[in-house]
Amino acid sequence: MPDSVPSQAVPQDPTLDQAALARALSGRHFIGGAFVPARSGRSFAVVNPATGLEIGAAAEGDAADVDAAVTNAAAAQKDWAKLPARKRGALVAACAAVIRAHVEELARLIAFETGKALRTESRVEANTVADILEFFGGLGSELKGESVPFAPGVLSVTVREPLGVVGAIIPWNVPLLLMALKIAPALVAGNAVVVKSAEEAPLTVLRICELMNRVLPAGVFNILSGFGPECGAPLVAHKLVRKVTFTGSVEVGRIVAKAAAEKIIPVTLELGGKSPMLVFADCDFEKTVTGAVTSMRFTRQGQSCTAASRIYVERPIFDRFVDALAARVDAMVMGDPLDEKTDIGTIISPEQFDKVSGFIAEGLATEGAVGRACAAMPEDAGLRKGLFIRPYIFTHLPADSRLVRQEIFGPVTCVFPFDDAETALAEANDSEYGLAASLWTNNLKRGLELAHRLEAGLVQINQNLVVQANLSYGGVKSSGLGKEASLESMLEHFMHKKTIMVNYS
Ligand code: ADP
Repeated sequence: MPDSVPSQAVPQDPTLDQAALARALSGRHFIGGAFVPARSGRSFAVVNPATGLEIGAAAEGDAADVDAAVTNAAAAQKDWAKLPARKRGALVAACAAVIRAHVEELARLIAFETGKALRTESRVEANTVADILEFFGGLGSELKGESVPFAPGVLSVTVREPLGVVGAIIPWNVPLLLMALKIAPALVAGNAVVVKSAEEAPLTVLRICELMNRVLPAGVFNILSGFGPECGAPLVAHKLVRKVTFTGSVEVGRIVAKAAAEKIIPVTLELGGKSPMLVFADCDFEKTVTGAVTSMRFTRQGQSCTAASRIYVERPIFDRFVDALAARVDAMVMGDPLDEKTDIGTIISPEQFDKVSGFIAEGLATEGAVGRACAAMPEDAGLRKGLFIRPYIFTHLPADSRLVRQEIFGPVTCVFPFDDAETALAEANDSEYGLAASLWTNNLKRGLELAHRLEAGLVQINQNLVVQANLSYGGVKSSGLGKEASLESMLEHFMHKKTIMVNYS
């Protein structure tokens, strides 16, 4: 067992003092049921993007920490897998209750750490973690196999078995939700998990790990913070890691998939998106404008892989739709993420700020293009160094613009008019990505026909919900491999099927 850091500094009860909690959680991994510092003793700063102030530090993990976490996980997994599946599920569901008791604390901490507004994003995300744990916690008895007709006197059955230690690598945009989508099915299936958190959001997920470890046996859920190449790569490469589940960029997804291929282990990839929204003139106009506002995820500063970032609108309603959209976004409040009045918080980091600003500058410099800046910048002096970017709605961009082709991961949407459904469909499908899409029309026959032809893992008509437990979620093309969030995801991606044959003739 690793030497543990005295944990009394970390509050046992829910706390709404996010600054104190961030400090208390600083400089630690969670391995084998205890907080531990990085073996190297190194850590890196965690900065609140709304103020630019350092709020804590994260342990800087490397291969030695990975080895400690994976070794602990492998040892713990043996007994965990022996528990009846329903018992494992019950324990995961019991974790949900602990998370529910801490929702407000977790919501404040993630808002503090990532700049996502408390009311519109952070509280919703914290609640969703509990939902996901409850959902998978109830599926313990669904880990069924089949009987296979083979020959007289031979009983042939399949049984599902866990894979062993799962390495989970998560990004910063919705770290709580994305971590829950990985750990909940992995654990119920009988695996142990080692999570590598995102550099920009290491603290709230660490708190969740500690809270869940109050219920789970030590070692089945461990978490490391650190940088991708130094901590994420050794996790994927570790010989005892038998499955990797990754959410992040296409570029890193390729690196992870290649490393997994070296070991011949399965990998699930949830990568980027450039999700289209097709709006027909016969849609319910107000409902569709509301749907577009939600779909663009401007409340998350557009930092979402499913964000509707290309909106194709039938020409007769194009101008009216763009005006209505701009008016709605204009009315949104950008400001302190912890303020209940705030709709839109900040961009996560200076690097992302520069990247998104670069896209906007390029759009504004494009000949003929029109970019409308919406929503006012916050005036609070304490937020002067905050990474706020006004949301932009662009029209008249050429189809080959970088803004149309690449994932911006910022509050930028491109809107185009179309004259016929076939052209709109072709434009929507003309992307390297295929994560999600939505169609808005009262002609359901047309909607359904087009839904079948849209190249995306998730297509919705007249709604655009975010990830929901029980709905398989995952993309096609460069958007990824495999599904998350559903029973199928647990059975197919966190277990393998063994065939057992008995000859009783
Ligand atoms: P984003 O653009 O959302 O930051 P990234 O793909 O860069 O997405 O990062 C997602 C996660 O992948 C982060 O936890 C990051 O540390 C991790 N990561 C980055 N590089 C590697 C790598 N070479 N191997 C494993 N994980 C990595």
